[in-house]
Amino acid sequence: MDDKCKKIMECISDYLDGEATEELCKMVEKHLLECSECKCVFENLKNTVEMLHNLPEEEIPGNIEQSVLKKLKKILFK
Ligand SMILES: [Zn+2]
Repeated sequence: MDDKCKKIMECISDYLDGEATEELCKMVEKHLLECSECKCVFENLKNTVEMLHNLPEEEIPGNIEQSVLKKLKKILFK
């Protein structure tokens, strides 16, 4: 994985949460079109986040989304 990919992965959770700046969004989107490796990771993360969002709120302990993202990234980039 090159430096650009690492940078994208660092901000991908912000991007998924809609917290990324417009500039960052564009950068991520452009990279995902060019890089199948990051795209694959992104799809996995997105599906996981969507799954969490579909759970009833009371079943989601605080910050689980962030910790799941962190774990996933560790698994995917070991
Ligand atoms: Zn990449």
